Amino acid sequence: MEDKERYNHLNTYYKNKFGERTLKICIDAGFSCPNRDGTLSSNGCIFCSEKGSGELIKFSNLDISNQVRNFLNSYRGKRANKFIAYFQNFTNTYDSVENLKSKYDSALIDDRIVGLSVATRPDCITEEIANLLASYSNKYNVSVELGLQTSNDKIGKLINRCYSSCQFTTAVNILRKNNIEVIAHIMIGLPNETFDDIKNTVSFINAHDIQGIKIHSTYITKNTVLADMYYNNQYEPITLEYYLNTLAYVISHLRPDIIIHRISGDAPKDLLVAPEWNTHKKWILNGFEKLLKEKDLWQGKYYSNKTV
Ligand code: SF4
Repeated sequence: MEDKERYNHLNTYYKNKFGERTLKICIDAGFSCPNRDGTLSSNGCIFCSEKGSGELIKFSNLDISNQVRNFLNSYRGKRANKFIAYFQNFTNTYDSVENLKSKYDSALIDDRIVGLSVATRPDCITEEIANLLASYSNKYNVSVELGLQTSNDKIGKLINRCYSSCQFTTAVNILRKNNIEVIAHIMIGLPNETFDDIKNTVSFINAHDIQGIKIHSTYITKNTVLADMYYNNQYEPITLEYYLNTLAYVISHLRPDIIIHRISGDAPKDLLVAPEWNTHKKWILNGFEKLLKEKDLWQGKYYSNKTV
């Protein structure tokens, strides 16, 4: 296979969908998470950093509309004409429908915004919330990023995610009934995870009506339970080589229609404990391209719906 993308790159998908380069505006809307505020747990998922993955959001100290304005006026904002308002950190559907609407509306303040994307947990999707999100579909491309990490509920318990894989299925069904695009989030290298767990997670994903996936390696940030486990020799991070080979398995067994939104995590350098290679995005992206070429692999090469 030559001169063709070996997996469905997000940028190409956006170009085809919106007709040109389209960038995400990352927004910190000040949400919390039931896994952090004591409702389900106070500790959060064992890898969750203080800002719930929002460390790299610029202007997060501003209100939502000003975060959007500042981004559009910034250097990055001048590099495209179309944008997606992306509610990124913590649980962006964890509030009343009225408050959610008010927050989403605060971001949709410019005609160049063509999409609304919301990251959340499966147990925070209800029919009412899906209806609210669907109400934006006549004007915007609406998508929801749903955490899964693994289909193995035992590991789910170990990482303290406080929802089950069955709840993921329910959330996907509710969202798809409302024609909302679903992007699943999975991780490679979780504690106690075997290669069979990866295989099962890929089969689980393939069996769901999802449109996109984000994949990243498990990395350790400061002041997390995972960092304590690492310092107590209870957790050893995976190597770059293991990550790339496992990623190659995932991509080559994944349904060919799914869009790959990400294959590397963005750990803030000053917060990263380990593994060090995680800060080298190019090592991951270029290393993965090289591996796919060497092994002549592509997305869905070994996909079979019989395995589902
Ligand atoms: S669901 Fe997300 S925000 Fe909540 S604790 Fe887990 S990783 Fe953090």
